[in-house]
Amino acid sequence: MLQVPVRWPNFSYSVDAMGLNKSTCVSEVILSEYAKLIADSAVAGRIDRAPAARDGHRYWTFTTRVFRKLCAGDMSPSAVLRENKMLLTAAQECAYCGVQGALQWEHIVPKARGGPETIDNLVLSCAACNLQKGALNPIDWYRRRDLHPKHIPRLAMGKLLKLVLEEHRRRGTLGAAEFPPGAGLRLSEVCRVFETPE
Ligand SMILES: [Zn+2]
Repeated sequence: MLQVPVRWPNFSYSVDAMGLNKSTCVSEVILSEYAKLIADSAVAGRIDRAPAARDGHRYWTFTTRVFRKLCAGDMSPSAVLRENKMLLTAAQECAYCGVQGALQWEHIVPKARGGPETIDNLVLSCAACNLQKGALNPIDWYRRRDLHPKHIPRLAMGKLLKLVLEEHRRRGTLGAAEFPPGAGLRLSEVCRVFETPE
């Protein structure tokens, strides 16, 4: 499948089809991303690392329904995504570029940026991706390459969102109207929670 990079400056989380991304708090920012990840494979047919086309009435209707269920607690992100199970079945290839061969454990949120030393924060990666990513979280790494976060493979993005959700829950900031205070509600900032002082 041809991968067409989406240039970073064109991307906005403030306006979206059906108003899904008019998030009012941290948890909505995270759960709307979860909903899109689910819809990418369930509706838009994402099966590889190429991003899904996030358009069309069916896509956004499904995404909005999943988002509402996630917000209502009817559907838990961990039950839906099962990333650690995916990690086992995807164990033979790099979580980022898909190359097979010698793989290393890679911290999704780097330890240098406060990422925990747990399986929830680990994927297998090739040496080249691991080196290039360095001490960046996936969103900042893709941004540096002018790639929209929807290019981040589902396993890595799902695990990042789960980690970030749990850290905001621990801090009591899921209902915050801005994160960090004064910075609005941008996914990139919300996902930098581990490096943001409490
Ligand atoms: Zn790789």
